[in-house]
Amino acid sequence: MRLPLLTARLPLLARSAKQPRRAISTTSAHHADFAHIVIGAGVVGLASARSLAALGPTLLLERRAMHGTETSSRNSEVIHAGLYYGRDSLKTALCIRGRHLLYDFCAEHGVEHRKTGKWIVAQDETQLRALEGVARLAGQLDVPVRWVGEAEVARDGEGVRAAAGCLESPETGIVDSHGFMTALLGLFEEDGGS
Ligand SMILES: Cc1cc2nc3c(=O)[nH]c(=O)nc-3n(C[C@H](O)[C@H](O)[C@H](O)COP(=O)(O)OP(=O)(O)OC[C@H]3O[C@@H](n4cnc5c(N)ncnc54)[C@H](O)[C@@H]3O)c2cc1C
Repeated sequence: MRLPLLTARLPLLARSAKQPRRAISTTSAHHADFAHIVIGAGVVGLASARSLAALGPTLLLERRAMHGTETSSRNSEVIHAGLYYGRDSLKTALCIRGRHLLYDFCAEHGVEHRKTGKWIVAQDETQLRALEGVARLAGQLDVPVRWVGEAEVARDGEGVRAAAGCLESPETGIVDSHGFMTALLGLFEEDGGS
């Protein structure tokens, strides 16, 4: 795509009506032509731009002074296991695949992360039924979970109350979202992205 960068050429256009018409372009094709343009340098834009830069010249546009200063820097930094979104949902499929890719990426590129695991607790019968539903779904999705016994909750729970039951998701973790975005930006720039 050729970007019409007008400003510096305007005096030339006004110089003489007799001169042959010029293409309105001030920069060389090398600088002005991009195969892809991504708008927004949050984590989604950075990841998209990083992948696209490997395929061809890519421009990443961000309205803020820095990348990743909106939602992507204000989240809980949890790497979700993929337990909550239903068996047939695209979100479940993407969450599970994304989790594997994210752990691999962090290990390969030195991004701080930890597979902390997570406890999901039930305080009464209704919540326990819901938790059993989560455990059933996890089995169908092949996402590991295990029931945590009362003694283990008391020993390791640091005051956690799980009156009716406790289910552990060992694949859940946390990630340094800023480190992740900086790594994506570095790879994007290494591949010639602007
Ligand atoms: C409270 C909260 C907690 C969350 N916790 C988690 C979690 O634990 N784990 C998890 O995986 N997800 C979590 N999420 C979701 C996750 O944060 C978002 O899905 C993700 O950050 C979205 O990234 P993004 O790149 O789409 O958006 P953003 O990070 O918002 O990036 C969009 C970028 O586009 C730029 N932009 C917008 N319009 C323009 C324009 N016209 N021109 C140029 N630039 C523009 C913005 O300035 C911004 O930088 C959470 C979300 C919230 C709100």
